[in-house]
Amino acid sequence: MELLEERIRRDGIVKEGNILKVDSFLNHQMDVELFTQMGKEFKRLFGDRPINKILTIEASGIGIAVITAQEFHVPVVFAKKAKSVNLEGEMYMTKIESFTHKRSYDVIVAKKFLSSEDHVLIIDDFLANGCAVNGLIDLIQSAGASVEGVGIAIEKGFQPGGQLIRDKGIDVESLAIIESMDARSGEIVFRKS
Ligand code: 5GP
Repeated sequence: MELLEERIRRDGIVKEGNILKVDSFLNHQMDVELFTQMGKEFKRLFGDRPINKILTIEASGIGIAVITAQEFHVPVVFAKKAKSVNLEGEMYMTKIESFTHKRSYDVIVAKKFLSSEDHVLIIDDFLANGCAVNGLIDLIQSAGASVEGVGIAIEKGFQPGGQLIRDKGIDVESLAIIESMDARSGEIVFRKS
């Protein structure tokens, strides 16, 4: 998506450790007009699927998921990061390894918000090693629901997550895929679509 690539080139900051900082428009301050265009693009890409729910993970996926949900006219559920409390019975739970924070945590979704009737589109801001998306897939499968696809704003194509999830036969659509980036020069190269 040209508009997103341009914005990443203009305002994205490449940090050491393969981190792209996009907090001026994506995951701290949020450019809602850009999100609206992204939501329309996800609708174009997944509009033929019988999606009745969008699933994301707190916190940075929520904004994009909400705007996308307006295009699909479906509710958004976000997986919550949980303290280790005994919620068994009422919740689906999975473990996610955080790429940015280098630690693992439990995430939960209340069983009443995910059922075998659901056809779910996963939305998130980044795809890196795939742990967050894999955790969301795990929650959906625990509920016996269907994964209709995965919509990502920025995929770091030089990390293995995209390949891992596509190899499961799941349709992953990323609006911008970064082929390489360099913290010293600040150069960002996008994969040609
Ligand atoms: P994964 O689980 O695929 O390794 O990483 C995805 C999650 O880590 C995303 O939900 C995102 O919040 C965070 N993340 C991964 N890479 C980056 C990055 O380069 N920049 C930012 N800002 N967040 C990232």
